[in-house]
Amino acid sequence: MRILVTGGAGFIGSHLVDRLMENEKNEVIVADNYFTGCKDNLRKWIGHPRFELIRHDVTEPLLVEVDQIYHLACPASPIFYKYNPVKTIKTNVIGTLNMLGLAKRVGARILLTSTSEVYGDPLVHPQPESYWGNVNPIGVRSCYDEGKRVAETLMFDYHRQHGIEIRIARIFNTYGPRMNIDDGRVVSNFIAQALRGEPLTVQKPGTQTRSFCYVSDMVDGLIRLMEGENTGPINIGNPGEFTMTELAETVKELINPGVEINMVENTPDDPRQRKPDITNTKALLGWEPKVKLRDGLPLMEEDFRQRLGVAKKK
Ligand code: NAD
Ligand code: UDP
Ligand code: UDP
Repeated sequence: MRILVTGGAGFIGSHLVDRLMENEKNEVIVADNYFTGCKDNLRKWIGHPRFELIRHDVTEPLLVEVDQIYHLACPASPIFYKYNPVKTIKTNVIGTLNMLGLAKRVGARILLTSTSEVYGDPLVHPQPESYWGNVNPIGVRSCYDEGKRVAETLMFDYHRQHGIEIRIARIFNTYGPRMNIDDGRVVSNFIAQALRGEPLTVQKPGTQTRSFCYVSDMVDGLIRLMEGENTGPINIGNPGEFTMTELAETVKELINPGVEINMVENTPDDPRQRKPDITNTKALLGWEPKVKLRDGLPLMEEDFRQRLGVAKKK
């Protein structure tokens, strides 16, 4: 198999590349513009004969010959996707169009990493794939939410119109080693704050919920989806649901019991609750997450300690 991973220098992408490279029959090509990813995430593969890294922006056409495309390229953290919202839309719309054009030309199967953000601030809880969402079309998150919604539409129209083999994963909040330390996402923020001895910043009201999936479980789900027979969209996430106050308390207890928890202002359109319904994922992919939050957080702590240069107290 020759496999293209767009956004493969990012957090989830680089873990996916690690897993794909374990199979000696795979050749992996990564295309990434390094907006939020970095070569360092892939350093163990650079120079490997079955691996190739291309600096490429997916909003430009790409000519390669591949059997499968994992299309991840897109900033995932609110501070980065809001930084240049027009570019975020181009990445989601033109970038996905280009990867579909490529899939069509070479007859490749293509998987899109969509997001639980397509459910917006959901009025149905937990969220099944059949729920159409409650999304603000003109808000500051819309470049991402609506961008991914159009990307899903493009996937289905290429499937219906051109017979392309598609797979759509709706990813819920994912965490683990190699997350950007200062990307503003809640788990990376809390762990970095706890290690630096700074107060944990819980955005008000603190009762909003998220469900956090450890990255190894996520990669396993993505590969199962690609290899299986279902187009999706299918939820991939961990149904364990926590309020942000509970998350802060857990990080405090596990990493630095001396740290304070501060309530700070929130950003607009923050979804109040989010939890995947994974009934279909279990039935169709035979997948469910294995790593509990309390087991995953220490694995991420270890990686953050190394990168921040904070040794563990004996
Ligand atoms: P990330 O920011 O670490 O990775 C995204 C990668 O895409 C980066 O390497 C970045 O440089 C690259 N990229 C961005 N724009 C590009 C462009 N125009 N051309 C080429 N490369 C580009 O984020 P991640 O958490 O690894 O997310 C990967 C995918 O999963 C994204 O599509 C994201 O929307 C989706 N997702 C992630 C989460 C999560 O919790 N991490 C949740 C839902 C969906
Ligand atoms: N495309 C690409 N690589 C390819 C084939 C197509 O990047 O190998 C791009 C192409 O530049 C176009 C998009 O994919 O912008 C959609 O291609 P398609 O053939 O579906 O549409 P058309 O070119 O007819 O608009
Ligand atoms: N959040 C928080 N403190 C932070 C960063 C985020 O309390 O330092 C909250 C934020 O208000 C949201 C949740 O954590 O309710 C998840 O935010 P994140 O940006 O990680 O992901 P997303 O909103 O895309 O799910």
